[in-house]
Amino acid sequence: MTEARSTVDMEKLVSLCRRRGFIFPSSEIYGGLSSCWDYGPLGVELKRNIKQAWWRAVVQQRDDMVGLDASILMHPQVWEASGHVEGFSDPLAECKSCHKRWRSDELEGDKCPDCGGELTEPRLFNLMFKTFIGPVEDEASVVYLRPETAQGMFVNFENVLNTTRKRLPFGIAQIGKAFRNEVTTGNFIFRCREFEQMEIEFFVKPGMDKQWFDYWLEERLNWYVSLGISKEHLKLREHTKEELAHYARECYDINYLYPMGWAELEGIANRGDFDLVQHAKSSGKSLNYYDEETKEHIVPYIIEPSAGVERTALAVLCDAYDEDVADGEARVLLHLHPSIAPIKVAVLPLSRKETLTPLAKEVYTELRQQWMTSYDEAQSIGRRYRRQDEIGTPFCVTVDFESLEDKQVTIRERDSLRQIRVPIESLKATLQAKLDGEDLFVLPPGGKIWKGG
Ligand code: ATP
Repeated sequence: MTEARSTVDMEKLVSLCRRRGFIFPSSEIYGGLSSCWDYGPLGVELKRNIKQAWWRAVVQQRDDMVGLDASILMHPQVWEASGHVEGFSDPLAECKSCHKRWRSDELEGDKCPDCGGELTEPRLFNLMFKTFIGPVEDEASVVYLRPETAQGMFVNFENVLNTTRKRLPFGIAQIGKAFRNEVTTGNFIFRCREFEQMEIEFFVKPGMDKQWFDYWLEERLNWYVSLGISKEHLKLREHTKEELAHYARECYDINYLYPMGWAELEGIANRGDFDLVQHAKSSGKSLNYYDEETKEHIVPYIIEPSAGVERTALAVLCDAYDEDVADGEARVLLHLHPSIAPIKVAVLPLSRKETLTPLAKEVYTELRQQWMTSYDEAQSIGRRYRRQDEIGTPFCVTVDFESLEDKQVTIRERDSLRQIRVPIESLKATLQAKLDGEDLFVLPPGGKIWKGG
């Protein structure tokens, strides 16, 4: 079997994201800020859709999960108890001539890769951003920008348990910003210094942890497939004993085949009782659970599926990117799954003639109540179709002169280029069905096939 290869060139993708308003370098007019990115009008929709899809799958559609939104700044003792103050670091060596710093575990030789200079002995560099709370900048007022959202869920275990009356097994889910002063950066939005995590802490009875760990591995892998990512571009990688984090009993990464090669998209860890025991010790509060069956107090084990919004956005964009020929012309298109496409439908009057505008605007206004919809009347219809293809809009609705008479419009499907013509009165229901996956050629009453694929 041949090894799968990424089909997209990172430079082309970065250029598309920049050109069409998905992603810009942060503070670009000042020359940018390394590894920080701004999400433009389309990028913000893509990220919102990814987060919404995750929340629907792991919170809304389950009765064993509840949500949380903890603050980014937390009591500094949290990070002592979690081991981050002590151990959340990378070994760094500095070049004695050009003063560039390198991760010594990633260096191949013992010289500076840039200038060949001699390197210092590696020193541990903590990845947490430090700041101060209140008006005095002293050691007593130090707080950290959280490097993960997980701790907010551990320290709220009791609050959630007492207010929701959940019984084991149950989980807490959270989406939020995390910050890491990463040493190696690059590869577009793959490794950022400010990013968003989508994390689950799933509490189970000790002894049931293996079963739930396996369950979440499969569940999370399937979620990426449900976003339209090809199975061949996903694989599980088990952490070796040597690389296993201090808190983990078992850990797998879900890796995606990015343009630079296979790399982590999500990490799934069996954290055992490490976190609750540590926080109980450090806070002096008992963080346990009364098991009514056995009449015993136990400390639950935790299974943690931890995903990144940016790495998911990058994976879906890489997987969706394509170039082909449509109607004799080259086009770039994003085969984005309808659930995450930033714009679901575009309304395009065939021409700019005034007679068409009122009806086209009426259709647009109606559709906008339900979906992110775009309206475009500039340039030829072919160019407008291609503009929508390039940002992944699944359907275009065209209003033409006949529409004024027969009160029908055409729907064009991005991937197959097929078209149908349907009565305006059934347009909304038809589009909903197509966005939910119904074949384009399943027609509503009065509808007809307009163009084959
Ligand atoms: P890596 O080994 O690539 O640095 P990690 O093992 O440190 O990642 P985790 O601590 O397991 O990452 O974080 C869970 C998830 O958060 C990752 O799978 C990834 O999706 C996301 N993530 C972590 N660090 C970053 C970052 N710097 N930029 C973007 N996403 C990140």
